[in-house]
Amino acid sequence: MAKRQIVKIDEELCNGCGACVTPCAEGAIQLVNGKAKVISDSLCDGAGFCLGVCPTGALTIEEREAVEFDHHAAEEQQKARGKKYIAQHCFRCGASEEKAYLIPCRTGGESIWVCTRCIPALIHG
Ligand code: SF4
Repeated sequence: MAKRQIVKIDEELCNGCGACVTPCAEGAIQLVNGKAKVISDSLCDGAGFCLGVCPTGALTIEEREAVEFDHHAAEEQQKARGKKYIAQHCFRCGASEEKAYLIPCRTGGESIWVCTRCIPALIHG
């Protein structure tokens, strides 16, 4: 155990949308009984890629005592879940992550995905 950063999920705020499952490359987050859960501290590296996509603000990073991040266990988890994920789409053009690179954005209190082709339009209006 060591003090480190790790994802914290507020179950009261979580609406079970599942948007945070895909961005977690390590497969640390899964939906359990309609709520997002970090299934094992050892799978969460605390990088926080999930934070930007949560529409309710249920995800934060906290610093607490936790087991070390386990690269090997994360790799095994990735292999076990295979390519299963919910494909996300660009809010502007609808491009799927199957064919485009998507980046999470926040606007007006909401989390959205935008593809790299649409980013210039957001920047320049
Ligand atoms: S993105 Fe937020 S609201 Fe949706 S399942 Fe994950 S924690 Fe819950």
